[in-house]
Amino acid sequence: ATPLLDIRDLRKSFTSRRGWPIARTSVVKALDGVSFTVGAGEVVGVVGESGCGKSTVARVALRLQEADGGSVNFDGADVLEASKIDMRAIRRRMQMVFQDPSSSLDGRQRIVDALGEPLRVHGLASGAAVRPMVARLLDEVGLPNSALDRYPHEFSGGQRQRIGIARALALGPDLIFADEPVSALDVSVQAQILKLLETLRAERHLAFVFISHDLGVVRYFCRRVVVMYLGRVVETGPVPEIFVDPRHPYTRLLKVSSPEPDPTRAVAMTFQEGEPPSPVDPPKGCHFHPRCPLAIDRCRVESPVLRDVAPGRSVACHLAT
Ligand code: SF4
Ligand code: MG
Repeated sequence: ATPLLDIRDLRKSFTSRRGWPIARTSVVKALDGVSFTVGAGEVVGVVGESGCGKSTVARVALRLQEADGGSVNFDGADVLEASKIDMRAIRRRMQMVFQDPSSSLDGRQRIVDALGEPLRVHGLASGAAVRPMVARLLDEVGLPNSALDRYPHEFSGGQRQRIGIARALALGPDLIFADEPVSALDVSVQAQILKLLETLRAERHLAFVFISHDLGVVRYFCRRVVVMYLGRVVETGPVPEIFVDPRHPYTRLLKVSSPEPDPTRAVAMTFQEGEPPSPVDPPKGCHFHPRCPLAIDRCRVESPVLRDVAPGRSVACHLAT
């Protein structure tokens, strides 16, 4: 079957000027040929350390930033080439939940107005019909009617994330990019929000691209995982198989660094081995070679390509079988 979302060879670079007194310009390849697919109703985790490009995937796929190359196909539509008008239709069906929901909420707007706005803009409700529709959305994410006339700052972090989720649901999307949706929350609140997302997924048959640095959370919520390292996909496959038998040395490192797969006690990954990677001037060849215990000479000069190693599983490592 054709996937709902098909991301192919996506590329995005940023230039940064740093240094004093003489600034040096460097190019950061945030996305260096990223490809993966998401089926209808499927939940795909995109995992990696900060700076690996995982947030950029979402931002570029939603055209919040323009890609340098590659393609994004959403249910037959060429997203990167879509006109403004076509993009409006695509945005109805492809939404985003941010780590910090305040970034998508205007502090001076009451919740009924903040959530009513997309409904009005897209012609789904007007006048007196807006308020009950927003109330239904709030109810769906576990917030009372009294939330309608309050302002974002009157809510806790977890409640604000529920509002962010309600806003993403307002237009009835088929796919949601969730970028670290629980990372800023207390551990007990994380579990509640994950449970809510799981309920919404099942009831609305939603697909998710679930972006996280936390393997425990990914294991709980996702069916399939895409592991990224410095702008490249290094391993993809079904969640159970990747956790039982990771094939890429970086995935193995992620696994040993994430001691607790229980999301109610989600522990952020910690990396003890090697230097924290920087997307500025990444290592030649396999980007992971300075931290890789298996590295051979070839790894320092030749980048491994992503290749199939088993049905539904692919790995970018010269040595992977
Ligand atoms: Fe390690 Fe080489 Fe495989 Fe890269 S290609 S992960 S350096 S063995
Ligand atoms: Mg990020």
